[in-house]
Amino acid sequence: MQHFPVYLDLAAARVVIAGNGAFALAKLRLLARTPARITLFAPAPARDLEVAAGEHGATLLRRPAEAADLDGARLAYAAHGEGAADARFARLARAAGALVNVVDDLEASDHITPAIVDRAPVTIAIGTEGAAPVLARAIKADLEERLPQGLGTLARAGKLFRPAAEALPQGRRRRAFWSDYYTRSGPEVLAEAGAELLDHALHALLERHLRAEAGVGRVDLVGAGPGDPALMTLKARQLLDAADVVIHDRLVPRPILDLARREALFVPVGKEGFGPSTPQDAINAAMIDHARTGARVVRLKGGDASVFARLDEETEALAAAGIDWSVTPGITAASAAAAAIGRSLTRRGRNAELRLVTAHDTQGFAELDWPALARPGAVAAVYMGRTAARFVQGRLMMHGASPATPVTLVANVARPDQRILTSRLDRLAADAAQLSGPAILLVGLGPAQAAASFSQRIEDMA
Ligand code: SAH
Repeated sequence: MQHFPVYLDLAAARVVIAGNGAFALAKLRLLARTPARITLFAPAPARDLEVAAGEHGATLLRRPAEAADLDGARLAYAAHGEGAADARFARLARAAGALVNVVDDLEASDHITPAIVDRAPVTIAIGTEGAAPVLARAIKADLEERLPQGLGTLARAGKLFRPAAEALPQGRRRRAFWSDYYTRSGPEVLAEAGAELLDHALHALLERHLRAEAGVGRVDLVGAGPGDPALMTLKARQLLDAADVVIHDRLVPRPILDLARREALFVPVGKEGFGPSTPQDAINAAMIDHARTGARVVRLKGGDASVFARLDEETEALAAAGIDWSVTPGITAASAAAAAIGRSLTRRGRNAELRLVTAHDTQGFAELDWPALARPGAVAAVYMGRTAARFVQGRLMMHGASPATPVTLVANVARPDQRILTSRLDRLAADAAQLSGPAILLVGLGPAQAAASFSQRIEDMA
């Protein structure tokens, strides 16, 4: 870290910029977001620079800077983009004690300008010490997209409210209050009612947190999606980030768990393939016990929380225990598998109905509406289908499905080891036996048209 990031207070500070064109204009626009007093030295200013100087209230001097002009300057930008003029200005400014930046000249600069995400008072500076400006811009673009526009407004209102929030004891409860404000209530109020109501909302939220019996936590049941962290919802990430305890299915992979706070407690539950499984009562008890210690519990489930995930059993147990809960949806394996093969789960003229089925129930193999599933054009996503492939194959053929019915098997969807196998009903059992890991069978769906024309059988399409 040769360049150390700091935040410089520019209230009432003097900043000088020297240059006539685009470089000077870019610096002027950036610095104009601060309260600094800006002086611009431009012997022959371009028209738009002149206009911008006027707009931003900068002092424009149509001559080169002299030593005496630079007294008390805190920051100086040599922005001619021309060696001799920049070097001269840099020398004068440095002699006057200013920190100098020479545009596009790392070596000649005392400080460099980072890529900035501005949600003041929340500001993020991204620097690469000149190594990779493109990377800095990509990170900035990513953050710009991720951080709500109103973040600065939220933070300003939050800052004013800090003394009031001290009514809550320091530690978990106060943290829960702020987390609630920044991730939930604040953005909601901002979107629905506007900034004027933030202060009112903060008071109401504080009341609620003060009234809440000390030490009663909550449980958020969250769909983690099929495995790729990029396929999680923003809300899922926020809840995970605020969680004290994460009770997760074994289906949820490491990169997603890594999004939780490092100090969070991780409790793996559920079953691994046909390995040992945690009884539902024990899962319910774990959620309730942790919530009763006052913890924010996230119950993290693979895919969507409401698809073959025993959601109701868990929410009913929480409700019976008097614990607050919520559900956050996620991308279910069927959606992710369809996306992986580039096919639509429904299609005009083919299927107006989509079935999400499991071939297993608590009793063993599940009996389904086989005649409907066997009809031409029917599409079904079979969960937990790998080990039941032979059973599904037998039942569908028995009910008259064509042996040539396309079936696509997708294992480990949205994970590095994703595997796609194009099959047909009469080969289903044999093909399924080649796969390992969680897999979904898309009955009635073959590969995308373009791919089908040159390949009957596509392996490892990913
Ligand atoms: N709630 C989950 C489903 C849980 S049941 C969801 O909405 O996706 C477990 C079954 O889901 C697995 O046996 C498999 O059929 C399917 N599944 C879940 N994640 C998967 C993944 N990443 N790839 C393939 N199948 C997956």
